[in-house]
Amino acid sequence: MEDIEKKILEIIDANKEQIIGFGQDIYEHAELGYKEYRTAEKFAAFLKNLRLETAEGLAITGVKGYLKGNRHDITLSLIGELDALRIPDHPNANPVTGAAHCCGHHAQLAGVIGAAIALSDEEVARSLDGDVVFFAVPAEEYGEIEFKNQLRNEEKICFGGGKSELIRIGAFDDIDLSVVHHISPDGIRVGNGTSNGFVSKVIRYIGREAHAAAQPERGINALNAASLGLSALAYQRETFRDEDSVRVHPIVTKGGNLVNVIPNEAVIETLVRAKSTQAILDAAEKTDRAFKAGALAVGAQIEIDTMPGYLPRLSQPAHPVLLEAAWQAAPGRNVTETDPATHGAGSTDVGDLQHIMPVLEFNTSGAAGALHSKDFAITDEEEAYLVTAKIFALTAYKLLKNGAQGARNIVSDFKPRYTKNEYINLMNGLISHERTEF
Ligand SMILES: [Zn+2]
Ligand SMILES: [Zn+2]
Repeated sequence: MEDIEKKILEIIDANKEQIIGFGQDIYEHAELGYKEYRTAEKFAAFLKNLRLETAEGLAITGVKGYLKGNRHDITLSLIGELDALRIPDHPNANPVTGAAHCCGHHAQLAGVIGAAIALSDEEVARSLDGDVVFFAVPAEEYGEIEFKNQLRNEEKICFGGGKSELIRIGAFDDIDLSVVHHISPDGIRVGNGTSNGFVSKVIRYIGREAHAAAQPERGINALNAASLGLSALAYQRETFRDEDSVRVHPIVTKGGNLVNVIPNEAVIETLVRAKSTQAILDAAEKTDRAFKAGALAVGAQIEIDTMPGYLPRLSQPAHPVLLEAAWQAAPGRNVTETDPATHGAGSTDVGDLQHIMPVLEFNTSGAAGALHSKDFAITDEEEAYLVTAKIFALTAYKLLKNGAQGARNIVSDFKPRYTKNEYINLMNGLISHERTEF
């Protein structure tokens, strides 16, 4: 191991309590997407304390911290996601919002600030032949779709996903390649398989209120329409092919106002996910048809608002630089390469970023309980926070040392699927608002 690499590891170990403390603090103050004000503030304050320049309020809560290297013609970003999930039964859930870090995004942020401590050391920074951006990004979990649509109406965002929105506003324009992390139940892993992309839908049934007992015949029951729509959707499932990995998973966010009154409005949110864009569009058409059937049956009106979600994630084998960083960061721990042929039915806006720039991905564990469940908990702070920081920092150093040759090779080998504008056009093309009266 090189002396600078040893120094990076020593700095992170010497600041162990601070890094773990930061991770725990974020864990205990979870916030939902596009509302991560406290988390963003803490992240920015930490970087400012390291005397790094910051840009804040990007796509509402995004924060960039800039570390200048010797040269400024290549820039690498280390990304941590700010947001949590709404899981009110989690022991650490925010009592007001129900937000809880059951996807482990707080560990990404602890890893990024840990890397920032090590890389901003004067001697380490002098060895970097490129700039580093420590980037906290909002809204990776695609929940609260109505809230996102409201932000859209207020012209605060255009896209629901934080990285999608950051791409749109040009916050990735000065970045050439990125490194991302996610907590995984399967230990330390490098590389990634594919995952589903999706579109989101808000389905609103509009009926007519009436006395639920005295004169129900005067009403049009929007909840009944929704119930039929959900059943019709369930009957589509046999048409989804296994190889398309389709997932359509609605929730009812409004089902009526008072039990004495025939519900005049019912609202459903759903994601429509699949492995390919074609399969997403096919499932989306069937979803629309099914929900319209509910409205037709009871004579309700229906509005369907469709928004682009995320693009399917592209697979990539473990990069040797990242693999070496993981071995050095976690001696004695098992490091494995993710089989690029594996497919996950979940989704991430990392997939969107991958379509326009190279993105290296790794996982650490240190957590027990399933992701997105109330049982999720950090059980090994060393791995969740410190090993994550070490892999981030070592990877940045290895890619930017010696004329940043490592980073340059990755950038020159990369063939973007879309330019930024092509991506924005594709996303805009998926937006629709449809109202049908029967
Ligand atoms: Zn998640
Ligand atoms: Zn996540």
